[in-house]
Amino acid sequence: KTMQLNEVRQAFIDFFVSKQHKHVESSSLIPHNDPTLLFTNAGMNQFKDTFLGLEKRDYSRAVTSQKCVRAGGKHNDLDNVGYTARHHTFFEMLGNFSFGDYFKQDALKFAWEFLTSDAWLALPKDRLYVTVYHTDDEAYDIWHKEIGLAPERIIRIGDNKGAPYASDNFWTMGDTGPCGPCSEIFYDYGDHMEGGLPGTPEEDGDRYVEVWNCVFMQFNRQKDGTLEPLPKPSVDTGMGLERISSIMQGKFGNYEVDLFTNLMDAAAEVIGVQSTYEPSFKVIADHIRAVSFLIADGVRPSNEGRGYVLRRIIRRAVRHGNKLGAQGNFFYRLVPALVREMGAAYPQLSDKQAEIESVILKEEEQFAKTLAQGLRLLSGELEVLKDGDVLSGEAVFKLYDTYGFPVDLTADIARERGIGIDEAGFDAHMEEQRARARDAGKFDVDYTAAIKVDTPTEFVGYSLANLESQIV
Ligand code: ATP
Ligand code: MG
Ligand code: MG
Ligand code: MG
Repeated sequence: KTMQLNEVRQAFIDFFVSKQHKHVESSSLIPHNDPTLLFTNAGMNQFKDTFLGLEKRDYSRAVTSQKCVRAGGKHNDLDNVGYTARHHTFFEMLGNFSFGDYFKQDALKFAWEFLTSDAWLALPKDRLYVTVYHTDDEAYDIWHKEIGLAPERIIRIGDNKGAPYASDNFWTMGDTGPCGPCSEIFYDYGDHMEGGLPGTPEEDGDRYVEVWNCVFMQFNRQKDGTLEPLPKPSVDTGMGLERISSIMQGKFGNYEVDLFTNLMDAAAEVIGVQSTYEPSFKVIADHIRAVSFLIADGVRPSNEGRGYVLRRIIRRAVRHGNKLGAQGNFFYRLVPALVREMGAAYPQLSDKQAEIESVILKEEEQFAKTLAQGLRLLSGELEVLKDGDVLSGEAVFKLYDTYGFPVDLTADIARERGIGIDEAGFDAHMEEQRARARDAGKFDVDYTAAIKVDTPTEFVGYSLANLESQIV
């Protein structure tokens, strides 16, 4: 069976509506009333208070396709983008939810039915593997005895404490909040791809791809780490729309689905080169989505918090465009292609198209002023280093401070040559600068008083202009 991305999204919603779930709209990427969260990073975020029993809804089952951004905070995939076949900064998470309604049994049976029954996705069962939390015999038995999976397809996974792999079957939204053991479903692309089963050191390859996570929400994690039981056991699931779409299109990665090939083609046209699957194209196609959706939800480039993440993503995309040979500002010109692809599902994108373009263009113009100089400095620094070396914190700081290079942009460029960066050294320079700014700020406040009280000679040479230049 072949399905386009928009069809997969619709099928998921239809399936769960047929199972008495209420279709709820995606919430904003800016979490409401949740200071613990930078951006919405999962479908369950908008239901957090419902899981906690603080908010009542007039339904106990819901289905959503939720806009998510994982660039910063607990779930941060920014560095993965362009280098794995399955990570985006912005993606859509399909999810079904039970608020004290059904629990493990129905959650797993629904998931299996949607993925394998002929009426829905009709995936071959022998391509699927599942994981369960290592002590969760209940989930194991449902998979084995009720759904009929052979034991070699069910893998027990722990908390990832000290394990030589990243898998973790205890899902947490952040350092605090709703959490619980989970069971995940993996798709096997076949032995022509590299990678190992989850729970092995080779799991990071692209052969076995995690598509769906079913979380059995049972606890509220407190600041001190203790797990307090939720009022009612609940269910929260999340499936990456781009990942399942790539499987449904017989493609070996998210960037080969219709939506992304169209965006990469648009990028090639705007830049004036031939489209390929090299990382820079993937980064640009990924980032135009994240940036446009963030702007549509009200984020603006700035030097802190959410705005700084947005700035970093734009600058990273611009740099990759330059690497491909872009002349002048190009990134904002990808917005129309994105609106063509996603405007029907997200009308806010079409409504705000002009605004999105102008915010991006302005940021491109600002960055363009220092980009070339910064890149020259950086190549000079990198030239004298070799594979495996580390770029000094001082250089990283200078690029940040003088040329507007976010640290991860510098790291991204260095990585292309196998060079790391001295993050601790950078942090030290940063802290020094903050201290200077604080002192300068204090001085500024007491400016006249200080001149009167202290000996004037100490202040010779201090003009207001160079005072300001110290305040960052
Ligand atoms: P991975 O291990 O691949 O990084 P995850 O375990 O961090 O994924 P979950 O928090 O379990 O992901 O999220 C639920 C689902 O959302 C995943 O199974 C996957 O299909 C999808 N997903 C997670 N992160 C991304 C991403 N950065 N880009 C695209 N899809 C994602
Ligand atoms: Mg992850
Ligand atoms: Mg995972
Ligand atoms: Mg997961």
